[in-house]
Amino acid sequence: MMKNAIEIKNLSKTYKASGKAGPKMALDDVSINIPRGSIFGLLGPNGAGKSTIINIMAGLVVKSSGQVKIWDRDIDTNPRNAKASIGIVPQEITFDPFFTPLQILDLMAGMYGVPARERRSMELLETMGLADKAGSYTRSLSGGMKRRLMIAKAMVHSPPILVLDEPTAGVDIELRKALWDNVRALNAKGVTILLTTHYLEEAEELCDRIAIINHGKVIADEDKETLLSRINNKEIRFRLDRPFDDIPSELINLGGQKSGKRSVTFRYSPGEFNVDGLIGAIQKCGYGIADISTKDSDLEDVFLQLTSAAA
Ligand code: ADP
Repeated sequence: MMKNAIEIKNLSKTYKASGKAGPKMALDDVSINIPRGSIFGLLGPNGAGKSTIINIMAGLVVKSSGQVKIWDRDIDTNPRNAKASIGIVPQEITFDPFFTPLQILDLMAGMYGVPARERRSMELLETMGLADKAGSYTRSLSGGMKRRLMIAKAMVHSPPILVLDEPTAGVDIELRKALWDNVRALNAKGVTILLTTHYLEEAEELCDRIAIINHGKVIADEDKETLLSRINNKEIRFRLDRPFDDIPSELINLGGQKSGKRSVTFRYSPGEFNVDGLIGAIQKCGYGIADISTKDSDLEDVFLQLTSAAA
């Protein structure tokens, strides 16, 4: 069985010079495999090259070199079938507001040449939680519903891969969570999901595997858990029973930093730290401990560390 839904090999793209701007290398030897069945996150700061990758897959941008296979179909030698294997949800919401959701999906299926008896418009509306809106005017749908309809529209030809470009940009947190559930439901039905996002929380919540690109280069491509464990910056913060001016030198020697009038914070790697020892050292300095809090590293920490290191 095919292991990867998408294989990108040594992909480079240089945009031609235009006007005063010189040529721009947007992708520099990018290789990424997107495992079949995964929810894969493509992360990177603005201008990193994420849209360029998606636009190459969509056939909207012509690559300079390298190879892209979608569902084992090369976009150069088998562009039609490669394109048919993918559904792309763009960032902008675009519908004719006078059609109903059901009409929109049927029209789209027609454009893809899906025979009437094979159309699954109603089923798709159900999956996306829009069944009761099938006959409403699209202009009457809420913003969240319109986004869900965009996803349904990208799925009319039953592609095995769905690409979401910033699916929840500008969407409030409630709606974002609802959309995540829809995406998970599609994934549970076997659809491989590729999404770009700049919400790290979204990637952390949703993705099994994450690639980070910066200045057109891949700087990380790992399972989410591996990526998160890559930097060990757990933090432990002690609030002491009274304020202090300077941290006692014993605590500085242990790596302590002042983090408030009466708080001291230590950073450490899991497994290499002795909390008992720290508590003992604080008490030995004559302070009581009023409170203890800890913080795990999250994707935001990893992202900042990696993108600033490579800048
Ligand atoms: P992202 O989606 O990660 O924000 P893009 O793929 O849009 O990044 O852009 C990558 C780089 O390529 C940026 O420096 C951008 O300015 C440049 N770029 C994108 N599209 C074009 C274009 N049509 N012509 C010239 N440069 C472009």
